Amino acid sequence: MALSGLQIYKLLPKTNCKDCGYPTCLAFAMKLAAKQASLDDCPHVSAEAKEALSAASAPPIRLVKVGTGAREFQVGNETVMFRHEKTFFHHPGLALRVKDTEDAGAVAEKVKMVNDYSVERVGIEMTFNAIAIENASGDPGTYADAVKAVRSQTALPFVLMSDDVDALKAALDVEGDHKPVLYAATVDNWEAMAGLAKGKQVSLAVRSQDGLDELADLATKLGDAGVEALVLDPGSRDLGESLAQVTQLRRLALKKNLRLLGHPIIAFAGEVADTEEGEIVATTQFIAKYAGIIVMDRFDPAVAYPLLTLRLNIYTDPQKPISVDPGIYDFNNPTADSPLMTTTNFSLTYFSVAGELDGSGIPSWLLICDAEGMSVLTAWAAGKFDAETIAKAVKTFNAGDKLSHKKIILPGHVAVLSGELEEELPGWEILVGPREAVDLPAYLKQL
Ligand code: SF4
Repeated sequence: MALSGLQIYKLLPKTNCKDCGYPTCLAFAMKLAAKQASLDDCPHVSAEAKEALSAASAPPIRLVKVGTGAREFQVGNETVMFRHEKTFFHHPGLALRVKDTEDAGAVAEKVKMVNDYSVERVGIEMTFNAIAIENASGDPGTYADAVKAVRSQTALPFVLMSDDVDALKAALDVEGDHKPVLYAATVDNWEAMAGLAKGKQVSLAVRSQDGLDELADLATKLGDAGVEALVLDPGSRDLGESLAQVTQLRRLALKKNLRLLGHPIIAFAGEVADTEEGEIVATTQFIAKYAGIIVMDRFDPAVAYPLLTLRLNIYTDPQKPISVDPGIYDFNNPTADSPLMTTTNFSLTYFSVAGELDGSGIPSWLLICDAEGMSVLTAWAAGKFDAETIAKAVKTFNAGDKLSHKKIILPGHVAVLSGELEEELPGWEILVGPREAVDLPAYLKQL
């Protein structure tokens, strides 16, 4: 049972030392009760109190690890209903479903597409995360063969789908130690599924056929049977109703501290709609709210890219802009005569400028200043990208050593800094570049 803020307060040192970043122990206790702070932030809490507080400080939604090695992904550990309240931590794993009744060549083609698909955005690699393999044949031997064949083609984690415990057991025997998710325990098979999941130390999805009460009942029984890593399927395949169910699950876990429903959710976008467009809509809904694993039935790179971008955007911490390391970056093998530009370390800014410089074919240098990950105008308005910052970066990274000239090009949006920068960098000529990255190639050509 979760503790209230006052109950937590009684266990804290009550010295109001502020080392946790909050003005009083009571304020910290209230934040802890609301899952908006970590107990680790108080360095003075006693070991006894720590033990007593562990339930209160544990994330309300359990962390589940899927797969092993470089392709392992984690879901759960979420603490808020809305991203702007803090952040969402673990983006949902996207899986493509194949069936053991499909032609082996067609399956191999699909698996290869998903396995090889990788795109980069703002320096972050985005990929699909898993293959779901369904035992549509109903035959354990056929299923095990299909799982073995797919495993020979990819290191991606699996969701193994069958209501037949024997089929899942046969699949687990050939899957080895790759830690798949078993799907699914139901009212009819939960005891045998619990034994299998516990014995093989893998996570187990539980599917309700009759709403959240049945789901809670099953989750309780599985928990009592010793299965710790659960994934919940509330059961509905209707777009609106499934939204209501996943929202209720998140609310019950976060607001009511109902631990038995505090597990990641699995959703089946391809079962919610029978068209590609419908599946895309369902997937976007589940990315935003509140799936941990989303199983799709179609894969199209033209669809995958916007879906992965949406996922990246929603699961980016709103309080920490994505940034690149400050320093000097080179493009097209620059020499000492090549031009030097500067901008901030906001990822989107860097990659917009870098893309234009790279594509222009013009040898050039780019000095990236530490502006706490803000874009040019935001950083300038916040006092994080000023003449002092730029001059400091020029000196820190020894920009002058790379050049036979002493010229630096400012982004056009901060032309106002040129006078101050001349004072900060005596002997340097300050040039003003274009406002938009897209105009850089034309600007550089006329230098
Ligand atoms: S660091 Fe601990 S003792 Fe100090 S104010 Fe915060 S909760 Fe209280």
